[in-house]
Amino acid sequence: MAKKTKRDIIVIGGGLAGLTAALHLANNNCRVCLIEKNEYPNHKVCGEYVSNEVLPYLNSLGIDPFSVGAIKISKFEITDSKGFPLKAILPLGGFGISRYALDNLLFESLKNKAEVIFDTVEKVTFEENHFSVTTQRNNILKADFVIGAFGKRSNMDTFLDRKFMKNNSPWLAVKAHYEYDLSEDTVALHNFNGGYCGLSKTETNAVNACYLATFKSFKKYGVIDAFQKRELSKNPHLDKFFNEAKPIFKKPLTISQISFQKKEPVKNHIFMLGDSAGLIHPLCGNGMAMAIKSAQIFSEMFLEAFQKDNFDRTKLEEEYTAQWRNEFEGRLKTGRFIQRILMDPFASKAGFSLAKIIPSLLPKLIEKTHGSPTR
Ligand SMILES: Cc1cc2nc3c(=O)[nH]c(=O)nc-3n(C[C@H](O)[C@H](O)[C@H](O)COP(=O)(O)OP(=O)(O)OC[C@H]3O[C@@H](n4cnc5c(N)ncnc54)[C@H](O)[C@@H]3O)c2cc1C
Repeated sequence: MAKKTKRDIIVIGGGLAGLTAALHLANNNCRVCLIEKNEYPNHKVCGEYVSNEVLPYLNSLGIDPFSVGAIKISKFEITDSKGFPLKAILPLGGFGISRYALDNLLFESLKNKAEVIFDTVEKVTFEENHFSVTTQRNNILKADFVIGAFGKRSNMDTFLDRKFMKNNSPWLAVKAHYEYDLSEDTVALHNFNGGYCGLSKTETNAVNACYLATFKSFKKYGVIDAFQKRELSKNPHLDKFFNEAKPIFKKPLTISQISFQKKEPVKNHIFMLGDSAGLIHPLCGNGMAMAIKSAQIFSEMFLEAFQKDNFDRTKLEEEYTAQWRNEFEGRLKTGRFIQRILMDPFASKAGFSLAKIIPSLLPKLIEKTHGSPTR
């Protein structure tokens, strides 16, 4: 497929989408080069609950999250900002594992099968059917295909002049691990005025607390500690948590300017995977599964298309875009709908009351944000 000096595929970004696609393609004899700006292992802002939707597929790639201690999760609890609870059995269930462990597990499996470069990609050009990728350290790499798996917001989005970068992204997120006595099989989502906080256990037995909040609600306090003590703690479950839990991190990790706006699954001939193609509201607990699933969809389509004599790049781009939309657009829409309900005090109160009367409503909504497990 490629000359010796050239890679078949360059993957930009080694989060879950990039690592999974690189592994799938390398397992199928492609010459893959993954470029990631940070060394492994490292912590990332994330709720760290992974849906079982992608477990059979991960297993098929030789990845077993339970080999590093992932914890099975089968129950869901959600409370409104006053602490009123609803409980449900998760239709598919999932597992709790830190990104520190999960990304590293994928990296350890990939590192002897593909070239991995730790550098930041700054520029990608496409001419005469070939890509040229330039990094911060001035490496210039050539490839036939480029995958964009650089997450929610990257210097690459600015380079590619993507539309969503021009709009306001008024969300921020905070995450840290704690020692706390939380039921192992449960992922909890506690709402507060201006956001929600997820609590679940990880492979080290630590509880991961990760919350998303509007910048407007945070601005009133300006610092994390005061925000947690005075706003999040209005929910009695979060009040108990932040009073009793013992922090494990020196300080929480934070990210800002999180955008949930629409993105293109293909841009400048770059195939976008994971959050680079679109980010679902974290309350759905499904972004990681979507990142992994998008890697599966792309890799399978790519390998099948390449076996044909008359490979057509434009056709693959159109088919990937169509399949991405078919698989994920409905979930993103449901995510936006739930988010709007939870952020509106009146709609939220009505929604909680309705779900109390109709217990099947909550599992149904969860199902609508998830796909079905595939190998
Ligand atoms: C607050 C919050 C809570 C969440 N909770 C959950 C949850 O509980 N469950 C769930 O399933 N999902 C959750 N998500 C969503 C989930 O975190 C993402 O959907 C998932 O991380 C997407 O993976 P990714 O590989 O697309 O991106 P990432 O994991 O962000 O990976 C992108 C990678 O690209 C690298 N990169 C960026 N730019 C460059 C560059 N120019 N050159 C080289 N490398 C680059 C970055 O360093 C990074 O490693 C949450 C999200 C948020 C914001």
